[in-house]
Amino acid sequence: MKRVLVTGGAGFLGSHLCDKLITEGNEVLCVDNLYTGSKSNIHHLMDYKNFEFMRHDITFPLYVEVDEIYNLACPASPIHYQFDPVQTTKTSVMGAINMLGLAKRLKIKILQASTSEVYGDPEVHPQPESYKGSVSTTGIRACYDEGKRCAETLFFDYHRQHGLEIKVMRIFNTYGPRMDPEDGRVVSNFIVQALKGEDITIFGDGSQTRSFCYVDDNIEGMYKLMNSRNGFTGPVNIGNPGEFTMLELAQLILELTNSKSKLVSLPLPQDDPLQRQPVIELAKKELDWDPRIQLEDGLKKTISYFESLI
Ligand code: NAD
Ligand code: UDP
Ligand code: UDP
Repeated sequence: MKRVLVTGGAGFLGSHLCDKLITEGNEVLCVDNLYTGSKSNIHHLMDYKNFEFMRHDITFPLYVEVDEIYNLACPASPIHYQFDPVQTTKTSVMGAINMLGLAKRLKIKILQASTSEVYGDPEVHPQPESYKGSVSTTGIRACYDEGKRCAETLFFDYHRQHGLEIKVMRIFNTYGPRMDPEDGRVVSNFIVQALKGEDITIFGDGSQTRSFCYVDDNIEGMYKLMNSRNGFTGPVNIGNPGEFTMLELAQLILELTNSKSKLVSLPLPQDDPLQRQPVIELAKKELDWDPRIQLEDGLKKTISYFESLI
């Protein structure tokens, strides 16, 4: 039985990863400072003998004994990561240094949850891993984008300098049950607004695009990456190439919820990327991974989850 550390394990993706790791027969140490995560996401795991929760901020050193690390700790939604941008950069950069130091001492494998945001507002469409990105160093998204870029740099330097086995995953917009209804991400916002009959808030003219991956597909890709052949480091894109405008997303959610909510237009936030779509050939080849769940099916499951909350 492996003892696996999941940082950010009480968050949206982290809690699903804990579920997967427990199902696969591992012991899980979930480390989270509950900044954006919640104990309710892992409540169902608390009684398991092979699950342990530790409240800790990864910007501080962590001395534990484990066999593998998944580093997911970091606020992920724009309103959360912009609330305390200095802490966001610290979490990405100092958190990466601490987790890499831990992995180096224990000589164990470590996976980094990176992001499509390393591509910024992309001039190349769709985005392959070889695209180097178009990111502002001074804008309001930079604390997240540049923090994540620096974390990737640290991972590759620990790999070259200290021979650490690393796995770097670039996650594209992912949605599903346990998204925080208050964190402002588009899928949760639109579903909650539609269910409550409130106005659907389209930022800008709604022509910007995103490619949405259902959480189960994401977790399968993450697990496959951690267990991929020795020496395969990534970075590798994990996302669903189905690309939609925000207007199309709103329309689909209105249909699936039978909602009479109206669309209203609000200003587009600064540096909001106009388009985003992953090239996933590398994940197909190296991980034998392909997203299985279409947007409509994933949205139905996510809508059921939010219905149970409201
Ligand atoms: P989330 O906000 O639900 O989860 C992040 C978790 O990290 C939370 O539980 C939070 O409390 C914890 N955390 C934050 N700062 C911490 C710190 N300093 N020390 C310890 N714990 C800390 O977000 P998520 O959507 O589950 O994202 C998980 C990871 O995946 C993040 O690293 C994010 O950047 C990455 N990611 C997510 C998406 C997505 O669409 N969900 C896309 C790209 C990348
Ligand atoms: N670290 C940690 N847990 C460990 C080992 C290291 O949190 O088990 C932290 C430690 O605080 C250090 C950082 O990881 O600052 C980087 O460690 P590394 O060995 O790379 O660098 P150094 O200790 O030489 O600064
Ligand atoms: N968005 C929107 N209405 C909302 C929330 C977000 O139109 O209520 C837009 C946002 O401007 C962006 C897209 O939806 O273009 C995705 O936003 P999200 O915050 O979910 O993710 P990210 O911008 O980090 O990809």
